[in-house]
Amino acid sequence: MKYFTHKIAIVTGGGSGIGRALCEQLAQAGATVIVAEINGQAAQETTDLICRAGGAARAVRLDVSDARAVKMLVDHTVAEFGRLDFMFNNAGITKLGEVRDQSLENWRLVIDVNLMGVIYGTDAAYKQMVKQGHGHIVNTASLAGLVPQPTSVPYTASKHAVVGLSNALRAEGADLGVRVSVVCPAFIRANMIHEGSVVGVKVADLHARRNLTLMPTADQAARAILNGVARNQEFIIYPFYARLLWWLTRLVSATPLFMRKKIVRDFRKLREKAGGAG
Ligand code: NAD
Repeated sequence: MKYFTHKIAIVTGGGSGIGRALCEQLAQAGATVIVAEINGQAAQETTDLICRAGGAARAVRLDVSDARAVKMLVDHTVAEFGRLDFMFNNAGITKLGEVRDQSLENWRLVIDVNLMGVIYGTDAAYKQMVKQGHGHIVNTASLAGLVPQPTSVPYTASKHAVVGLSNALRAEGADLGVRVSVVCPAFIRANMIHEGSVVGVKVADLHARRNLTLMPTADQAARAILNGVARNQEFIIYPFYARLLWWLTRLVSATPLFMRKKIVRDFRKLREKAGGAG
């Protein structure tokens, strides 16, 4: 993990799940980590964990959907440390549910955080990195950014856009010294699905259907992500079954319809159980 030693890294959404694991492992590898998070207390907890373990970190309360605040964070980081080596645009939310149950407000929230948040982070970091002649932007999409995920349509839309912007920018940045990778995890044990992130079904029913023990932990995911970043991979797709699904999707140009329909039918059973629209 020498790739990260003595480097300056911003991680958005660093207060929980994959983001927290990324912060801790970056710090273990010798990076100074700016833990940027909408939940100030969670950011401070991550920072305390790192500092207690002898690492270097700083907590910053940040809403990634606020373009000005994101730009200010990058500017302050550069003013203090002289450069920005890594920008992990990791913060994300979901609003799981059928489109017939979704409000436009939910669409907007998902696009504002998952897409506009990544755009703001990319824009601010990229321009600085071009100026300094080096840097690595790591955008977190999802397997849903490669393989359409029914019952998660706004999320799928936002993550497909993140994949597209990252791949296109990678080519633009290559000769300017700026690297761009996109991370596409499948289900990881983290805290994305909670009360308020699901419409039409009960969160407890969803959790009961998922086999948590089969899911990789956030620590395992972060390790795979940082390995991929250190190797400058364009796509970091994790775990292995996610890569298989992606290959299958490319082979037949979309996930077979029967697979997508099965996801919908299973979800609808929970929707009926919950009494319809949420
Ligand atoms: P998580 O909910 O545990 O962590 C997300 C963090 O982002 C939280 O601490 C949250 O407070 C923060 N956040 C939310 N909105 C924010 C905002 N506007 N500004 C700043 N911070 C904000 O979720 P996670 O599973 O660790 O997700 C991390 C990333 O990985 C997300 O982009 C998510 O879409 C992606 N992802 C997760 C999974 C999974 O199964 N957990 C799968 C694929 C992709």
